[in-house]
Amino acid sequence: MPPSAATAPRDLLRSLGTRPDDDERLTHLEVLPARPGRREPWPDWVSPALVDAWRGRGIELPWCHQVEAAEAAWSGQHVVLSTGTASGKSLGYLMPALTEVVQSRPTAGRRGATVLYLSPTKALAQDQLNAVHALGVPGLAATTHDGDSTREQRDFARDHGEYVLTNPDMLHRSLLPGHARWSRFLGSLSYVVVDECHHYRGVFGAHVAQILRRLRRVCAAYGASPTFVLASATVAEPEVSASRLTGLPVRAVTDDGSARGRVSLALWEPPFTAYAGEHGAPVRRSATAEVADLLTDLVVDRVRTLAFVRSRQGAESVAMNARRLLDEVQPGLGSRVAAYRGGYLPEDRRALEQDLRDGRLLGMAATNALELGIDIAGLDAVLMAGFPGTRAALWQQVGRAGRGGGDALGVLVARDDPLDTYLVTHPEALLGRPVEANVFDPDNPYVLGPHLCAAAEEIPLTEDDLPMFGTGARAGVDALTAAGLLRRRPRGWYWTDRRRASDLADIRSTGGPPVRLVETGTGRLVGTVDQGSAHGTAHAGAVYLHQGETYLVSALDLDDNVAVVERADPDYSTSAREVTDIEITGESERMEWGPATVCLGGVRVTHQVVSFQRLRLRSGEVLDEEPLDLPERVLDTRAVWWTIPSAVLAAAGLATRDLPGAAHAAEHAAIGLLPLFATCDRWDIGGVSTALHPDTGELTVFVYDGHPGGAGFAERGFRAAQAWLRATREAIDGCRCAEGCPSCVQSPKCGNNNAPLDKAVAVDLLDLLLTSSHA
Ligand SMILES: [Zn+2]
Ligand SMILES: [Zn+2]
Repeated sequence: MPPSAATAPRDLLRSLGTRPDDDERLTHLEVLPARPGRREPWPDWVSPALVDAWRGRGIELPWCHQVEAAEAAWSGQHVVLSTGTASGKSLGYLMPALTEVVQSRPTAGRRGATVLYLSPTKALAQDQLNAVHALGVPGLAATTHDGDSTREQRDFARDHGEYVLTNPDMLHRSLLPGHARWSRFLGSLSYVVVDECHHYRGVFGAHVAQILRRLRRVCAAYGASPTFVLASATVAEPEVSASRLTGLPVRAVTDDGSARGRVSLALWEPPFTAYAGEHGAPVRRSATAEVADLLTDLVVDRVRTLAFVRSRQGAESVAMNARRLLDEVQPGLGSRVAAYRGGYLPEDRRALEQDLRDGRLLGMAATNALELGIDIAGLDAVLMAGFPGTRAALWQQVGRAGRGGGDALGVLVARDDPLDTYLVTHPEALLGRPVEANVFDPDNPYVLGPHLCAAAEEIPLTEDDLPMFGTGARAGVDALTAAGLLRRRPRGWYWTDRRRASDLADIRSTGGPPVRLVETGTGRLVGTVDQGSAHGTAHAGAVYLHQGETYLVSALDLDDNVAVVERADPDYSTSAREVTDIEITGESERMEWGPATVCLGGVRVTHQVVSFQRLRLRSGEVLDEEPLDLPERVLDTRAVWWTIPSAVLAAAGLATRDLPGAAHAAEHAAIGLLPLFATCDRWDIGGVSTALHPDTGELTVFVYDGHPGGAGFAERGFRAAQAWLRATREAIDGCRCAEGCPSCVQSPKCGNNNAPLDKAVAVDLLDLLLTSSHA
């Protein structure tokens, strides 16, 4: 179907507005006008053969941001290109990188220039390789080097590769430890491309930052100092995060010159249902149910639509429900909707993409995780079941719509949680300037230590190497030497252990061996649960749900990481109660807000699952509570906390009995809102609140990083404290429930079964804190 009046965003929305209460659901419609593109001539240094190749692919002239980034890189400046989806970031780095390769072809005995391309996923590297191949540059030796490569491919990449596409994991485990074999490739390295670099955040970002420092050091040993070119979605201060990632000064190019059609973004809030949740709280209709309805309406109108859903299961259920609803409208129409998720074979994925491109399919439901690997253009609309985590990801997903520069519609459907609810009622937080910076902390000693070991194994570390690894490097090598992992010799620090040092770093934070759920009698492996959550979900007596089947856990053996389970159908569910203690181990910074304080520092968090309740199915009535004997788990990490003296609370008329519930409610909402400021997931952080903390002697609310040594999220909360806590207050106050619900103060990860919680007093408490901030 060619773009026509029927695909104009307003008409698309009208087609959504068919149900009686849709006015209530559509909380905001933002229309971004179409924007003409700004083109510039090809830089005169770009190889004419390459210019011809790009012209052959339909690119007559580059956009201005592509030229600006290419010129910077060609002149030797490290550069980050941070522009919208489909703005052609790859041309920005391919112009200098491929020109260098083509112009410095090997002469007798000397290898030509090489380029290393890094992407967070294998699928993206494969797509990029296909794009480079499609250019048809004569004789270009481009290849991927990843976990799927054959021995022959690896040998070819190492010995002849000019443009090698890999990922940080392979760099860490294979290229760097084996650098001697890669010496000619690394010694000729002229460019390192770091694509989709906004994915390197949190603990993963800290690991990648250290891996890139190791790469720079090894290259330097072979006489190369490559120019780094990074590509990022639009985030706040891209030059700051790019510089932290590489350890180098990086220039940002952010002036997006690409043409774009009109983009409409609709914000959508599902209504409350008649059902009651925990403590009788109202519950909203699920985002996936709502998205299935919207997908149906759009497909009926022949609007090509992609729906992004968080989980595989969710994607399947959206597709299934839409198919059923469509078949009710018109038998057979359901067959034009499909699910698309991880686990499909590459050829099946390509077939689905092709079907969507040529219109055989009109609707598809995909998991967020596939956002990077999807090669789909030609969509009219994108639906999102829940905020995809960051503004960058949201615009990346919306950017999938807009066929051939035509108009595009995006609909963000809120899930029942504080952040989504806040966003659909505060559109300014999604529009305008990005508020979130890409957060990670390369100085985390828990991350740095293993990389210092790996670096020492690659080439012994010297005094001169240490500054590159950050201010904590000296203390790090001393501690590793004391622990017997490194050995000090006159010429530096050596790795003398028999293990592979790179095995010490768990760069994707898989968190140790999972606990296996084994069926009693048969010995069948039912599934696995990660270490962190086993105490709470797989303790003796727990009712465990796995793929729709119910099991009863008879024993949890933490030494062997096994839980013994049996099939059962009890008429109750279980809920573990966990006590959490937090101790301040060192305050590093503080802000005085009148009599209140906001602090940043180190904490030790101790968790212990102490008992569990049996709850009657449906009614949720507590049947009984049984104690458990499980060990404590200790986490040394970083936290942001705020305190208010008792006298100030009393003077403001806040009753002592209301304070525990108010602090607890404020803590939950603050955890829910931090991802808006600190590119984290609410599961990456935790909180503790108390009306009187022994270390501060005052009412204290802590929000801490859930990873050893911290990931930078608490620090970002501290830096953005005013805006963050103000948004927290608005999220609680703005929710239309009476006494607290999952959209404001209830949390799905609460260890205290969401009690006590006091929504109204939480707003008073935050008002008191924020008023003090101006004092
Ligand atoms: Zn609420
Ligand atoms: Zn809680």
